[in-house]
Amino acid sequence: MHSGLVNPIDLSRDGRQAGHLAIPYSVDRSPYYQIRIPILRLKNGEGPSLLLMAGNHGDEYEGELQLGRLMRRLDITKIRGAVTILPMANLPAVMAAKRCSPFDGGNLNRAFPGDPAGTPTARLAHFLEHDLFPRHDAVLDLHSGGTSMAHLPCTLIERQANAARFARSVALMRAMGAAHAFIADNGPAAPTSMGAAGRAGTIGLSGEFGGGGTVTPESMAFTAAAIDRLLMALGIADAPVLSRVPLAAPPALQLLSLSRHSQGIHADRRGWFEPAVPLGATVSAGDLAGWYHDLERLEQPEEELRFAESGIVISHRLHCDSQAGDCLIQVAEPIDG
Ligand SMILES: [Zn+2]
Repeated sequence: MHSGLVNPIDLSRDGRQAGHLAIPYSVDRSPYYQIRIPILRLKNGEGPSLLLMAGNHGDEYEGELQLGRLMRRLDITKIRGAVTILPMANLPAVMAAKRCSPFDGGNLNRAFPGDPAGTPTARLAHFLEHDLFPRHDAVLDLHSGGTSMAHLPCTLIERQANAARFARSVALMRAMGAAHAFIADNGPAAPTSMGAAGRAGTIGLSGEFGGGGTVTPESMAFTAAAIDRLLMALGIADAPVLSRVPLAAPPALQLLSLSRHSQGIHADRRGWFEPAVPLGATVSAGDLAGWYHDLERLEQPEEELRFAESGIVISHRLHCDSQAGDCLIQVAEPIDG
């Protein structure tokens, strides 16, 4: 076997199945090497089915750590229906502590619908969209800002043409209990996991659960609560599995929209960025967003960067050192609904 993806899991079977998805990929060190992606399947009779995945981007750790923990903790006798867990979907990226796979440069969240004869990342995307996603009622793909970005914690769905499925997606996103959420408009051909979920006819849920290539007690608690609330909202579990404290009533949900280039400030040259406002701040057009320093021309005053649009600060670059094209800071527009 020199191509494709080998799946050892029988999704129709009751019981606990642990194994690895295997993607053959010949490398210098090992002519018959396989990328081995851990997968766990628990199925206890008929009922709702949920796919939980993280490590779509390798350097986003809240989901990777919590789903690894969930694999160890979830008791099959205490669930109804089925749960499939992929804690490190793009395994080469996870092991390299990078956003994209070092083997093929593949960004899994831009690789859908994939290609069964393509690079490892393309083969994985094809398997997820065509084989795994359609066999589940819902998919939760856990993201964060990654190494270079701080992100306001939020949940996320993509708008779908199917009205009933979209309404169910909004209800489940609300049930996950975040204070902020996005409804993205990326269109039916989106190369993202959420686009893939829509094409696969399943409910796609996602979110930005932290950032900075690290985890904090707050980001881990937010992630645990979101997973627990989703398992209970779907009727798979009756009680929290991951949360260390009883789940409080969720905060009111503020919906956000990010749809215009002008909501972000992008670097136009090499420079060093200093933000002036924290994540979550409410700002108006014209407010100071930060300063752009030039450490190669210290006699030049730092440039004042000002927001072109009003809204809530949802992300900013963590690496001061920036190049032309880097997004330095973004605001999202609060919307009703
Ligand atoms: Zn991501």
